[in-house]
Amino acid sequence: MTPTSPNASNVTADQQAEIDAQRSDPQPTLRATAPGIEKHLYSAIPVLDHGFVRVIDYMGDDNAICQAARVSYGRGTKSVQNDEGLIRYLMRHWHSTPFEMCEIKLHVKLPVFVARQWIRHRTANVNEYSARYSILDREFYIPAADSLNAQSTVNNQGRGEALSGEEAERVLRYLRDDAMRAYDHYEEMISQDGQQGLARELARMNLPANIYTQWYWKVDLHNLLHFLRLRADAHAQYEIRVYADAICRVVADWVPFAYAAFADYRMGGATLSGTALECVRRMLKGEEVTQETSGMSKGEWREFKGVMG
Ligand SMILES: Cc1cc2nc3c(=O)[nH]c(=O)nc-3n(C[C@H](O)[C@H](O)[C@H](O)COP(=O)(O)OP(=O)(O)OC[C@H]3O[C@@H](n4cnc5c(N)ncnc54)[C@H](O)[C@@H]3O)c2cc1C
Repeated sequence: MTPTSPNASNVTADQQAEIDAQRSDPQPTLRATAPGIEKHLYSAIPVLDHGFVRVIDYMGDDNAICQAARVSYGRGTKSVQNDEGLIRYLMRHWHSTPFEMCEIKLHVKLPVFVARQWIRHRTANVNEYSARYSILDREFYIPAADSLNAQSTVNNQGRGEALSGEEAERVLRYLRDDAMRAYDHYEEMISQDGQQGLARELARMNLPANIYTQWYWKVDLHNLLHFLRLRADAHAQYEIRVYADAICRVVADWVPFAYAAFADYRMGGATLSGTALECVRRMLKGEEVTQETSGMSKGEWREFKGVMG
């Protein structure tokens, strides 16, 4: 295997050797460790065709959240007997700072168009692979056939049915051929073989947005959960959602009480406006409420009906 050819985990042979070395050298520590996340440390969780998420480091666990909360509540926490109950109380009441006591550092390999969405989350620390300094690999995200969808007819910011037949084949061919041609020209432009060679910082502008980049991303648990709330949601684009889903699995292993509370109150729960809540009260009293009598717009009513099942 060459250093740039990925294996089943989407990591190169060099990266795999580094992971093996890191995992074979455990260090004794007095710090609190979370057994659930230790098993993930350094290993790559494959995402999309060449991407991955790796846990590089973490700080804190469910207990760290409770410790911080008990500093502020002191004896008051006696009413919340156990850690799980306390964490659910904090999540329920948007008492967010105790969750900021936990941090995680991830190494992520992702297509540039996914990185553009991801970087909008400003409350993290990021260090990205430099395409001014280094040469990008010939790695492009090419969707699997079942992720190659038509434009949605009901949602301008979404996709509909999977493309099929000749159209699907042609689209895939364009994606592959255009990426390869652009990369061939990129390589040719930066080459110093018999020419000066264009600067890498300029040659990269020729590359399409499905090329892969990499970064280290460090974030506290509160802001990570905010990211996951938005990006593991069904409304998020599939290509970022699969990264969020992979991170959800890591967080569930890392801080099981916090993740369960998040899954219940944030991912599984819903926020109702005052108008919507009044409708629920009227419905519970047996009144038949319609969109016309609800005081809600058609869009709000549709979403409300979705929440109420
Ligand atoms: C489904 C979906 C569709 C989207 N569509 C678009 C789109 O069409 N166009 C587009 O431009 N973006 C779009 N976004 C991006 C979205 O508007 C947010 O920029 C992104 O989700 C990051 O959210 P955030 O600002 O809450 O996160 P973070 O940047 O992590 O911030 C977390 C919280 O910190 C606070 N905060 C952080 N920085 C500041 C600041 N400078 N000033 C004030 N408060 C701050 C805010 O309370 C914020 O909610 C979309 C996002 C999603 C999930």
